[in-house]
Amino acid sequence: MREFDGHEQVLFGHDAASGLRAIIAIHSTVLGPAAGGCRMWPYTGTADAVSDVLRLSRGMSYKNAMAGLPLGGGKAVIIGDSRKAKTRELFEAFGRLVDSLGGRYITAEDVGTTTADMANVAHATRYVAGLGAAPGAAGGDPGPKTALGVFLGIKAAVKFRLGRADLNGVTVAVQGVGGVGYHLCGMLAAAGAQLSVADVRPAVVQRVCQELGARAVPADEVLALDVDVLAPCALGAVLDSRSIPRLRARVIAGAANNQLAHGQDGTALPAAGILYAPDYVINAGGIISVWHEYRRGGATEAHVIADIEAIPGRLTEIFERSRRENRPTNVVADEMARERLGQPPHQLVA
Ligand code: NAD
Repeated sequence: MREFDGHEQVLFGHDAASGLRAIIAIHSTVLGPAAGGCRMWPYTGTADAVSDVLRLSRGMSYKNAMAGLPLGGGKAVIIGDSRKAKTRELFEAFGRLVDSLGGRYITAEDVGTTTADMANVAHATRYVAGLGAAPGAAGGDPGPKTALGVFLGIKAAVKFRLGRADLNGVTVAVQGVGGVGYHLCGMLAAAGAQLSVADVRPAVVQRVCQELGARAVPADEVLALDVDVLAPCALGAVLDSRSIPRLRARVIAGAANNQLAHGQDGTALPAAGILYAPDYVINAGGIISVWHEYRRGGATEAHVIADIEAIPGRLTEIFERSRRENRPTNVVADEMARERLGQPPHQLVA
């Protein structure tokens, strides 16, 4: 598979008693144990699940390297419908699978999994984070921390692309108002941004509209809105050769992993005058929180926030290098990440 890209290890796990079918992909442990969340998703087939976990785990290598964390990149997927198939036994079986790797992979929540699920994983392994945290302590649900990093990253991108020092009156379209998107909307609204939101779940859209005065837009129109900022906060691969020609935003900066369907799609964005904030750089707030929680060094929430506050500076460095070298931001970011991983700059997978 093209997505394999030198992965160190891919582990398939099956537990008949609980019905667990899971895959753990370890892309790199060069910088430390591989860390990345566990996604639960009703993949149509094993090939889809493998492709997704490989793309996500490589992204974690890049994300952790760019965030300056002593962590490698890995990811897990559980094949199943998170609304119907969750049981305590399932996550305990997943915990045993994680434990069998002896700490080479550290898990946490991702799309389809929660802090409560991770508490069940923790019955079977200590290689897990994203559990509940005491007030003021590092850790807990990474979603709000991811949202903070994205919020600060949007401010940096707006400053760079639009020359504006604040978000007052800036128009932002948010695709997906789940765990991250909802918190992001709260921060954007408090900063005076005008929000348009879309989600496939009407109830979450209604909540954001009622609480924050956001405007609801149909899910199939949100990408093409004429706004200053488009923040993809749902699933990946939303930016491709079909969607990019329809985009009218000046900045794309959101939480979703793997927003570009293919690396080369990044080239079309600057050509269209769009500044793209590389996803794995802007959305590192959650893994920063996971790391501080996991290392059990007594870090406080303030330590986590201080590290997240480095994200906008990192993005601006990428934006400036991209402009100086006339190369897309995603290519610049990939190259910087690969340098940190000791890998050749040439990217094997599009
Ligand atoms: P979530 O599942 O809580 O929220 C995603 C939301 O997107 C849901 O409300 C869902 O209904 C909606 N959605 C799905 N398909 C959609 C579509 N086609 N159009 C509009 N809305 C759609 O997940 P989350 O934790 O908020 O994560 C959002 C994204 O950010 C994911 O791609 C995730 O991998 C990424 N991410 C999350 C974190 C984190 O800390 N949670 C960290 C880094 C990256």
